[in-house]
Amino acid sequence: MTTLHSIIIDSDRLFTGEDVPAAYYEDTYVKDIPPVHAVALPVNEEEVQSLVRYAIDRDLTILARGAGTGVAGAQVPLKEDALIIDLHLMNRIVALDEETLTLTVEPGVLVGEIHRYVESQGYFYPPDPASKHSTIGGNVATNAGGLRAVKYGTTRDYVRSLTAVLPSAEVITMGSRNIKSSSGYDLKDLFIGSEGTLGITTRIQLKLIPLPQARVSILLAFDTVQQATDATLAILTSGADPSGVELFERQALRYAEQNLGYPLKSQVGEAYLLMTLDGNDPKELAMRAERIEQIAKETALESHILTPEEALRNWALRDNILLGLTVFTEFELLDEVVPINKFAELIEATKQMQAKHKLNVLNFGHAGDGNVHTLLMKDDLSEEEWTERRAALLKDLYQKVADLGGLPSAEHGIGIVKKEYMEKMTDPVNLTYMRAIKQVFDPDNRLNPGKVF
Ligand SMILES: Cc1cc2nc3c(=O)[nH]c(=O)nc-3n(C[C@H](O)[C@H](O)[C@H](O)COP(=O)(O)OP(=O)(O)OC[C@H]3O[C@@H](n4cnc5c(N)ncnc54)[C@H](O)[C@@H]3O)c2cc1C
Repeated sequence: MTTLHSIIIDSDRLFTGEDVPAAYYEDTYVKDIPPVHAVALPVNEEEVQSLVRYAIDRDLTILARGAGTGVAGAQVPLKEDALIIDLHLMNRIVALDEETLTLTVEPGVLVGEIHRYVESQGYFYPPDPASKHSTIGGNVATNAGGLRAVKYGTTRDYVRSLTAVLPSAEVITMGSRNIKSSSGYDLKDLFIGSEGTLGITTRIQLKLIPLPQARVSILLAFDTVQQATDATLAILTSGADPSGVELFERQALRYAEQNLGYPLKSQVGEAYLLMTLDGNDPKELAMRAERIEQIAKETALESHILTPEEALRNWALRDNILLGLTVFTEFELLDEVVPINKFAELIEATKQMQAKHKLNVLNFGHAGDGNVHTLLMKDDLSEEEWTERRAALLKDLYQKVADLGGLPSAEHGIGIVKKEYMEKMTDPVNLTYMRAIKQVFDPDNRLNPGKVF
């Protein structure tokens, strides 16, 4: 039988037993991660294929892993003896094709690296998760969203084709360089968002667009979250066409201020909207910015059109909210989404639940696309109080999301954390067909078992 050492020749790319780095046993959501068979770091598709064959021969389960920034417990095994295939060393930008406006990359390239590279060439890759240090393979597996989805969509909208190693060890390429296709089922779309349960992505061809030549950011401060959510809907329906509309409560932001060591441009009020407008004509941008300021005039305490340097600093604070929270406090992060006209009602409901369950609730997130990251704060609750109150609040919250026509996850995925709610909130016929699809691709349930459903 083939050995792991004969597949991964370099000893610094293979870990077994006590040599497995502690990071592979750490996760915010999954405690007591069981011992793994090995962690292998392939550098090409052939190695991935050999690793899958190795797992088939020994009947091992397999877990694909990118940068490990997932927040749904999807990138860690639940059962003993899994083979972890960590793809972060497959990190080459393979080719920029300026004729078809596509970029071919390996799965381990960081999304922040893709932004830097394509922007230096005059192109734009819009999906922009706050975790710039996540891999594009992980972004595809979770259909990552981020800060520009309101105008540009999510990762799914920028994948032209995917190559993956299937649980059978066959290699499949799905999609193509063509802009259009009516040529049978689109398997690529099944793989996007499948959280490593259908195959291991080894190559991705991304769609690029021309880089907008001008950008302006606006910061609005409000007395209440309700005023901020009301303003969001008015802005979205005004034709101002923002490429990002982020909402955050002061209480959620203060950890980022502490972590980065500088304040937000505005220090008044309890809730903020941070927005970007982009385009090619600075005069037209200025008119759109003015429209937003007009809308906010009635209720905003302050309105700032940010200089480019201020924009960088204030957006960095926004990007740092989750990291800041992680450093300074204990919380549970949610990722629910509702139709955009129900966003204000959802936020209002979370505040009522805060009072009902005596558990501090904060909100931040992608207001422009109806995706809120509700934070349940542990504060100084005992373990028992925290467990009880959190469970009761979650039950109410997901019921409200369902009543509003929403979904349990907008961009982080289901993983293990939201499985229970996915089951309750998804039409059983849908679930039956999802399970049947998993069975077709992975009859032995080898890839990331126990996740999603
Ligand atoms: C501070 C912070 C901010 C964040 N902000 C955002 C945000 O704004 N928007 C957003 O959408 N998410 C956000 N996230 C969540 C996270 O970064 C994303 O889910 C990201 O897409 C995960 O990528 P990763 O490389 O870390 O994947 P991992 O965490 O390693 O894996 C995530 C999932 O992808 C699968 N996977 C990874 N690589 C492959 C592959 N090559 N083939 C098949 N399956 C694979 C894994 O099996 C797992 O199911 C944030 C996380 C943090 C910590």
